[in-house]
Amino acid sequence: MTEPEPESPSTGPEPPGLKGRAANAVGRRQRSRHRDVGGNAARAAVLGAGDGLLTNISLVLGVAGANPGAGAVRLAGLAGLLAGAFSMAAGELVSVRAQDELAQREIEVERSELEEDPKAERRELTSMLRVRGLPAEEARTVSHIISAYPAAALDAHVRLELGIDPTRSGSARQAAVASFISFASGAVLPLLPWFFIGGTGAIVASIIIGAVAALLLGGAIGAFTGRGIVRTARRQLTAAVVAAAVTFGVGRLLGPQTG
Ligand SMILES: [Zn+2]
Repeated sequence: MTEPEPESPSTGPEPPGLKGRAANAVGRRQRSRHRDVGGNAARAAVLGAGDGLLTNISLVLGVAGANPGAGAVRLAGLAGLLAGAFSMAAGELVSVRAQDELAQREIEVERSELEEDPKAERRELTSMLRVRGLPAEEARTVSHIISAYPAAALDAHVRLELGIDPTRSGSARQAAVASFISFASGAVLPLLPWFFIGGTGAIVASIIIGAVAALLLGGAIGAFTGRGIVRTARRQLTAAVVAAAVTFGVGRLLGPQTG
């Protein structure tokens, strides 16, 4: 990932697998780090709400297809909302924790490399600074200064080589709460009519609310990903319609036998 300095023959005892691993770490960390940026948190929230909507419009209409009464639909929808939101939160908790542990491990590897072969690490830092546009002489000078201070050297290597921000605190709990809320906010929409009415009226209201929400969320997803608002809105609507139609049909077919 770095071009070697002309006067430095080799970085010596560094194992060959390290470059690839470090490069992977850069890709991983930059992807996950970007999710913490404001706009991407909003995108994650919209995607979570889209998941919640799709899951619960299928569940609500599937149960409603069996015509068991508004109380049963309400119960199933609430259970689906909670089950999905908890599942999303738990998944987020596990994955963010795993990412943090991985980052910690990479930092420890870097720390021991700095202790074991400070010269090679200093040359490496020079290369990384040159790649980022510093002229050779300046890169060497800066690298010498930074390398004289272990804490600063570790910080520089971790940032430049691994793409990890070592000051970033683990936000697993915050991420879990955010995905719980975003899933629940989408899941509650097709359920709303069943708190007020039942029967065909509630089914029609669920479909209308679900369709409008799918269009809006799909459009928002398209705006975030830059892949065309109309296209993503239509795709989200199609997904919701197909999923809901299938589960409604299954509910209608199985309902009389199980009830
Ligand atoms: Zn290094």
